[in-house]
Amino acid sequence: MDFQQSVQSYMQQAQEERRSEVDTHPDLQALRAYHGNTLSSDEADRIQEHLATCSDCVQLFLGLVNFLEWDLDPHRLSVDDLTHSWESFLEKKREQEKVAAEELCPIVPG
Ligand SMILES: [Zn+2]
Repeated sequence: MDFQQSVQSYMQQAQEERRSEVDTHPDLQALRAYHGNTLSSDEADRIQEHLATCSDCVQLFLGLVNFLEWDLDPHRLSVDDLTHSWESFLEKKREQEKVAAEELCPIVPG
């Protein structure tokens, strides 16, 4: 295998990994639909199985649940609004966590 071939196969592999990752993790809309109980039972099962094995998505889902309960009327929001509110919610959450972490441990190593 020459250099160009090896680069090509590397790129192809990276692309496939990214694609499979996108396929595997349910997106925000799917999690929202799962929370709202609007998925078909097949889709709901798929997400439930995924949540059982993926702590990243559990964190995301729990955050989403908090977010939906925190927001006054999330169902009237458009996808753009939802994404935007979600991002500002995450930002607030991150800030709260940062403050909490600083209170617990004022000297951050590194
Ligand atoms: Zn996941």
